[in-house]
Amino acid sequence: MPLHLKRALLGLRALFLSVALFFGGVAVRAQEAAVAPPSGDSKAATDAEFIAAADEVLGQMSQITGLKLMTPLKKSLRSREEIRAYVIKQMNEDKNAAERYADQRSAEAFGLLPKGFDLDTFMVDVLTEQVEGLYDPKTQEFYIADWSPLSEQRMVMAHELTHALEDQHFQIEAWEKAARPNDDAELARDAVLEGSAMAAMVDYLMLSTGRSLKDLPEFDPGMLIGDLGSTPTLQKAPPFLKDTLIFPYIGGLNFSAAILKNTGWAALPGVFEKPPVSTQQILHPALYRSGKIPTTVTLPRLDKLLGNKWTKLDENIMGEFGWKEVLKQFLDEDRAKMLAAAWDGDDYAVFEQKQTKKLILVTRLHLDSEEHAVRFFGQYSEALEKKYGERSNLLRRPNFFSFDTPDGGVFLDCLGTECVTMEGANRKAFDAFTKELDWPLAPQPPERVGAVPEKTAATFFPAAPGAAGTSALAAHSAP
Ligand SMILES: [Zn+2]
Repeated sequence: MPLHLKRALLGLRALFLSVALFFGGVAVRAQEAAVAPPSGDSKAATDAEFIAAADEVLGQMSQITGLKLMTPLKKSLRSREEIRAYVIKQMNEDKNAAERYADQRSAEAFGLLPKGFDLDTFMVDVLTEQVEGLYDPKTQEFYIADWSPLSEQRMVMAHELTHALEDQHFQIEAWEKAARPNDDAELARDAVLEGSAMAAMVDYLMLSTGRSLKDLPEFDPGMLIGDLGSTPTLQKAPPFLKDTLIFPYIGGLNFSAAILKNTGWAALPGVFEKPPVSTQQILHPALYRSGKIPTTVTLPRLDKLLGNKWTKLDENIMGEFGWKEVLKQFLDEDRAKMLAAAWDGDDYAVFEQKQTKKLILVTRLHLDSEEHAVRFFGQYSEALEKKYGERSNLLRRPNFFSFDTPDGGVFLDCLGTECVTMEGANRKAFDAFTKELDWPLAPQPPERVGAVPEKTAATFFPAAPGAAGTSALAAHSAP
């Protein structure tokens, strides 16, 4: 997954509210029971009320999750400006400007964000708009927005105080970062943190009923997404950002519900001891239980092959969640979901040409069967055609598809259970890449009658274009 929106991510107001709505009467009754004077329900809390409510909710969350409070917790009410300042500080600490630029360009290369999208501004806006409360593991402090009514605050407290309790027992920040540099595994751990806090919040909302999440037979958290899109910033957000923001909460809640199903909260420490290794395990909790480990996939060194005009911006793992998002951009959601589920490991790299800011995207994807690799080839060919409006020189063969675009050549090649892509480069670069993989040379375009050979050397070495000189491998070979 090229983007980390997490940790800066605090509490999605609309999501929380839809959870409350979903648990409907139950939730309302739980809140009524919890809120002392009903009139205090609609206005913001005073400091004293806030502290008293936080202490009460903290005790309840400790009871629900079985996690004891080990040290007293700092807590405070914060204004919107203070929360905004925190969000910005947090963003800068999580990744530096160069890393955030790389994330943005990678998402752009995959077609997940429009060109030139201002991700930093968007994130600050969405987080400031959405945040209701937060727990800062760095200072071990719990904040809540001073503008929300006390009844909403309690629900947010239930979520954030779960983070606080988990932090005291499992040191959540270090635990999550231990997945680095694997972005996919880090997102999976984020889903554990957010999902368990959501599950605890659901249990909190159901407290007065004597039931809990594990008693709900076929609970589908997807139903909770409801009117998330109704918030102004999320409404205009690219779908990828919306999905990435929501995934740790909803995907994580689904995962937590599956994990807690039989044993309840006693199962939680086990998840911290043996974290899910991929978003695939979050999306399919059965694969977490069976311990399915994805194949380790690596790209060959491409720096030399592309020449010194190109710098590697980013290299990482998309995971099933990331590929599902990519496929969803160009195929319908059901097909994207099915195809992404065949994911069994990947590696991608994004290169940027310093002066022109052009990008090359290289991916290597391992599928769980040859049959699925064939299906991926067919459907991703279609996706790539949709991604590039202007195409020429299309070459279609059973396992190989390529065409030219104003931004360079696009190549998709599959062999056995693997597929590779290269976008923004030329055929020579692509051939050098597959040669590094020890793959057979991809099918050549048919000879055009009367066509003048591009280079004299090519007429002498028609079968091995890579041998015709190494200097011209760089994409967009300048005129
Ligand atoms: Zn949270």
